[in-house]
Amino acid sequence: MPRTLFISDLHLAAGRSAASEALFAFLEREAARCDALYVLGDLFEYWIGDDDLGDPFNASIAQALARTAARGVQIFFMHGNRDFLVGKEFCRVAGATLLDDPHRVELHGRSAVVMHGDTLCTDDHDYQNWRRTARSLQWQRDFLAASIDERRERILALREKSREVIQAKPAEIMDVNDGAVREALRAHKVNLLIHGHTHRPAHHKLEVDGQSCERWVLPEWYGRGGYLVADATGLKLEFLS
Ligand code: MN
Repeated sequence: MPRTLFISDLHLAAGRSAASEALFAFLEREAARCDALYVLGDLFEYWIGDDDLGDPFNASIAQALARTAARGVQIFFMHGNRDFLVGKEFCRVAGATLLDDPHRVELHGRSAVVMHGDTLCTDDHDYQNWRRTARSLQWQRDFLAASIDERRERILALREKSREVIQAKPAEIMDVNDGAVREALRAHKVNLLIHGHTHRPAHHKLEVDGQSCERWVLPEWYGRGGYLVADATGLKLEFLS
C-alpha cells in the first residue's frame, strides 16, 4: 500500500546530534518503506546559503536524504522560516524537489494543502513583517553577497534576538489564526490541511462552510520527534521512541 510521510521542524544543527541521529534512523527504518517523504520546512535550525554545503554536517544531511531518494523514495522539500535560503543546489544534492508554500497535493484519493505553517500565524505582526523582508529578493541578494562567516554571524545574532522576542510574546499569538486556516482550506478547495511550525502536534477537526475539515500539525524534533503517515486507510501521527 502506498505510504506518504510528512516531517518538519527538525531544527538540525551540528551541535544537536540527537536530532540528526534520529533523522538518520528515521530515514533508514521508516522513510525507506514509503513512497514519498515531504519535509515541510525547518529541517535546519538555520541555513545561510547552499554554498555552505561544504560544511560536513550540512553535507551529511543532504547525503542521508540522497540515499533515501536513491531507494526510490520521492523527496519533497518546502522552506521553513529557518531554512528559507535552501536552494536548487541543496535540493540537487539531496535528491529533493523544492515545493512552493502552500502546495496542493493528491494524497491517496484525497486532496490536501501542505504548508510550513508560519503564514497561518497572522496574529504575529512582527514576525509577518520580518518574513516579508527576509523573503524579498533585495534582502536575500544582500545577505548572500556576504561571506559565509559573516552570514553565519548575522543569522546567529538574529536567532538570539528572536529568542528574546519569542519569550516575551503570549503563546496564542504564535499559534495559527483560525481565520487564516479557514481561508487556506477555502482557497485550495480542500478539506485537509497539513502543516508544522507551531510545535503543537495535533489532529484538529473543524467545519468550514458546512464541510468537515481536518488540520494535522506535525511534531518538532527538539524533543521526541515524530511524523505523519498517510495511506489509503487514513492519516496518523507517529512519535519516535
Ligand atoms: Mn518554523
